[in-house]
Amino acid sequence: MLAGLTLFLVCSLFVIFFLHIKSENPNDLFFKDWTCNNFENKRNELIDLVEPDKKWILIGDEFAEEEKQVILKVKLGSKAKRYFDRPDSIKIFYELVNTENEQLTNNVVSGYFATSSLINVGELLFEEKINVTSLPVGKYKANIKVEFACGQSLGFYEHIFISYPLYVAWSFDWEGYNVKNEYLEKIDALSEKHDNFPLSHLINPRLFITKTIPQAQRDHIRDWLLERKTNKGHSLGLHLHMFYENLKAAHIDIPEKDLADLELDFYALAENSVTSSPSTTVIFDKSKLKKKQLYDLTYWGFPYDDGYDILVTNFGYRELDKMVKWSKIFFKNLGFGTPPPYRSGGWFEAVTTLKVLQDNGFTVDTSGRTKYNFGINKIPGFWDLSITSQPYQPNTQDQNSARAPNMKIWEFPNNGGDSWWYTAEQMIERFNSNWGVVGEPLEKRTVVVFLSHPDWFHVDESKVDELFNYTDVYLNSRDSGPVLYKNLEDMYNIWTHS
Ligand SMILES: [Zn+2]
Repeated sequence: MLAGLTLFLVCSLFVIFFLHIKSENPNDLFFKDWTCNNFENKRNELIDLVEPDKKWILIGDEFAEEEKQVILKVKLGSKAKRYFDRPDSIKIFYELVNTENEQLTNNVVSGYFATSSLINVGELLFEEKINVTSLPVGKYKANIKVEFACGQSLGFYEHIFISYPLYVAWSFDWEGYNVKNEYLEKIDALSEKHDNFPLSHLINPRLFITKTIPQAQRDHIRDWLLERKTNKGHSLGLHLHMFYENLKAAHIDIPEKDLADLELDFYALAENSVTSSPSTTVIFDKSKLKKKQLYDLTYWGFPYDDGYDILVTNFGYRELDKMVKWSKIFFKNLGFGTPPPYRSGGWFEAVTTLKVLQDNGFTVDTSGRTKYNFGINKIPGFWDLSITSQPYQPNTQDQNSARAPNMKIWEFPNNGGDSWWYTAEQMIERFNSNWGVVGEPLEKRTVVVFLSHPDWFHVDESKVDELFNYTDVYLNSRDSGPVLYKNLEDMYNIWTHS
């Protein structure tokens, strides 16, 4: 009986002692391998995870310091517990190495994790912030070395990219015609679908003065644009087509043709229309002529006689200056702000156009493009840029050159093409060409500017959706590439302030 009680007490003491140890030291004293016998076999099983918080790190002065760093996570497995006493005694060495050129010393950053990097003792999770600003653009690998008393355990993570950003702008040329509400909704839906794309609107003031659009609809479009500028990060700018209504509102005198030329045009017209009685006496009547025949202007050729296809370059400095000043005041009154980015109708723009814009405080032009002929009349444009031309300040005498002396205004070329004339494949090709090698880090800050028309959005819709389905794949917000969607005003600030 006494022996039994003694045994019971001894057993109880053992249990109490055992439990006491367990609660004092959760690291399982009994399984520690202080002799290092098994370390060689186990060293490859001690690290559960090596992972950066992001794979694509964008650099450039537009990014804050904390954005230009990567947080490297290292998590040790439960087997690692055998090889240390206290988790904060573990030393972790890291190096970030450029995989294309490991030899160059300036292609590496390395060091030990700080003691504060142990952020979860139970999970043995360590996080170290690594600043990458000293590293050149490239593809990197993170090597990890965990130092235990018994030896080292190695881990790594491949495919970390340090790159300059690839900006994409989606600009809308509001021609001055009515835009169906159905199209406004479609534009909203696509912008939302594609990473809440902040759009760059370039607007013809004609939209808000023409009596051909009911006042309520004009107000609706104005409010729609203002709402997006205020709450969705869109930018508003100016797009000029020289509708007669615009010319009148800005008090611009339109040069008429000589009377003799008008008469010739008139009789040519009369001859074509009079077929029944050739003997009828036709009296010259100017009002029977189309406006296109009346004025001494170059038109690119468009079915309507409303002035839509009058080249902006028909006008000299003085007239253009009037038009731009009127537009600015008009936009200010609408609440659109000033001075905005600008694009010419049909991309027709000469050095004089740029000078007028610059003198009126415009900071961004986005009319630049490749060589082209335009409209039914196949009028040659003034631009001759490449499909990969990047923002520049045009030469004072040559809009296609970036040589000094330069204008103050910046040209952000419409290098991505537009969704009226181009197919989705062609625009994707432009995007790829500007990137250079798709999937690889960029050596410099790059931009691709696309163009759509809200007026005829049924043509654009499916093409831009296909285009942005493609570019979405490389969005930095998904950590799958260097692509950032921005509006033109923000881009101008990035290019000039960083
Ligand atoms: Zn246009």
